Amino acid sequence: MTHRTTTAASTVSANRCLYRAPAGRRCRAEVHDLKLGLCPKHGASRVPAAPKPSADFLQVLTTDCNDFTTAMGIHNSLYELYKLLAADLITARRAAVLAYIANLVLRTIPIVHSEIDSDSSNEPVRIDFGDLPRPIRTAPAPIPAESGHSS
Ligand SMILES: [Zn+2]
Repeated sequence: MTHRTTTAASTVSANRCLYRAPAGRRCRAEVHDLKLGLCPKHGASRVPAAPKPSADFLQVLTTDCNDFTTAMGIHNSLYELYKLLAADLITARRAAVLAYIANLVLRTIPIVHSEIDSDSSNEPVRIDFGDLPRPIRTAPAPIPAESGHSS
């Protein structure tokens, strides 16, 4: 009789949820997922969220991009990327990678245009700094001569 009682108790114990409250009490609910050993309530928090239905990011991000040959096209694609990220339809990691690539494409647009347009390739790129103060290079500061050693 004691053997039967022990078996029944261990079977009940094996079918109980393994979750323990912070106070140490074990959940009394029945196990739902045998792999996790948790009831539906506690198993739901442990199971990773199912991946969201994959949206067609390529279609959204390349609809109005002008083949990424203009700053406006890249701006439009980044705007769509922002909306996808804000709506939590794309992972932050993926959005970061796409934004980084868009940044590289944006930076290389002037170089590509200068290579395509052979007339402008001879002209160096000029950057107008406006009225920023510049160092005075005509009169270098005199180097003070060291005094003799006192020994
Ligand atoms: Zn539970």
